[in-house]
Amino acid sequence: MKRRLLDLLGCPQCRQALDLSVTHEEGDEIMEGELACPGCQRKFPIVGAIPRFVEKQNYADSFGL
Ligand SMILES: [Zn+2]
Repeated sequence: MKRRLLDLLGCPQCRQALDLSVTHEEGDEIMEGELACPGCQRKFPIVGAIPRFVEKQNYADSFGL
């Protein structure tokens, strides 16, 4: 994801602005990292330059249905 996207993203849970921590960056593209919400303490990984807003728990629940 582009770093400037951070301005557009908010926590899907409580709409707070997210804190970004980058572990791997290529040019202006953030490849790996984490978005953290200071409001509800949720964390969202950035994997393959895509922020993942679905929690692992939800994947498991979906498979169970
Ligand atoms: Zn939040």
